[in-house]
Amino acid sequence: MILTNSGSNIFFENAVRALNIPDGTAELLRRPWRELTVSLPIRMDHGGVGVFTGYRIQHNGARGPYKGGVRYHPNANKKEVESLASLMTWKTALLNLPFGGAKGGIECDPLQLSENELKQLTRRYIMNIEHIIGPQRDIPAPDMGTNAKTMGWMMDAYGQVHGYEPASVTGKPIELGGSLGRESATGRGVIYVLNELAKEMGFSVNKDTSIAIQGFGNVGSWAAQIAYQEGYSIVAVSDIDCGIYNSNGLDIPRLTNHIAKGGTIKSFEDGETISNAELIGVDATIFIPAAIENTITIDNLDKLKSKVVIEAANHPVTPDADQELHSRGVTIIPDILANSGGVTVSYFEWTQNIQQFQWDEIRINSELKTRIKNAFESVQGKVAKENLSYRDAAFQIGIAKVAEAVELRGFI
Ligand code: GLU
Repeated sequence: MILTNSGSNIFFENAVRALNIPDGTAELLRRPWRELTVSLPIRMDHGGVGVFTGYRIQHNGARGPYKGGVRYHPNANKKEVESLASLMTWKTALLNLPFGGAKGGIECDPLQLSENELKQLTRRYIMNIEHIIGPQRDIPAPDMGTNAKTMGWMMDAYGQVHGYEPASVTGKPIELGGSLGRESATGRGVIYVLNELAKEMGFSVNKDTSIAIQGFGNVGSWAAQIAYQEGYSIVAVSDIDCGIYNSNGLDIPRLTNHIAKGGTIKSFEDGETISNAELIGVDATIFIPAAIENTITIDNLDKLKSKVVIEAANHPVTPDADQELHSRGVTIIPDILANSGGVTVSYFEWTQNIQQFQWDEIRINSELKTRIKNAFESVQGKVAKENLSYRDAAFQIGIAKVAEAVELRGFI
């Protein structure tokens, strides 16, 4: 798949025009402030040396330390990481978090690497970027292909140079200063957004509202579990191989249990096996893409039956598909709002680390809910007042805040 940052660029350019941002400021917001590409040699298990490429792209630091995940994926190339870094800038601004935006990546297939190789790769990556990160500079976190264990290795590698510094990384294991509720935070945030939208659009938070979820990784599986707890009917889910459909609603606790025991979606006998291509066309009120980028395109959007799309993944809807769906009356909640729960609880983790004081999970979830509700309401207010799409409203709010910070700092 060809990945470009054109999606976020088009949405950005539309916002710049609508907000009348002066050319110089727009140019400063358009460009990443700092980009670092590193070569990562490691000793492979078979004895040879593998050399990988890693990136840390610091898109904008006007509002605070750079913040964003590190992705281990074959498609984590420079253009893609740049695009994801800019999304982090607008996301942290939209959520009013005191951060800028960044993203990291290593071009690799983590499924093909052993734990030993992944650990070496992670340590080498941090040793090569440690001079530009830190609790008040840039704070990495998990993304696709990385998890709490990876973050523990990152914190340790950073600490070898700078001393013990838990606030240097978020999404860590709880035992190392990670936050309660961080693992489920992105999926939980997706469903909190959905609950707010439900009030607005008048659909009910119960079995009458059906959901199809594409992707059953960290984000998709937690979104499914929390949606199930809230009472929604999850009629279809999928992973990289295939999907499963049950018009009466899937038993999500049983499915997660089955997967935790080493099972797969394919081997779960509680519904009809469908292909990934078919998933988008199932009869569901809500479609939640929670897998990779560009999964809803101009070529497959005709199949979509759902009238609402909640972007749990980062840029899953291509710009032309976005425009077309909007003109057909499909409501799309953009990634920078829909999946903001992860970075929001990362912010809580960072503050807990700095204060050396642990919050309980009830507090985490309730503060998350408040932040998501406030962000949703600000976007909703603009949507209603100016007759905009949720995407345009969210981008305009985020970008305006960053532009204001640039001006207040007196850069230009
Ligand atoms: N990778 C997540 C995102 O795309 C979380 C970033 C973070 O916690 O800093 O928002």
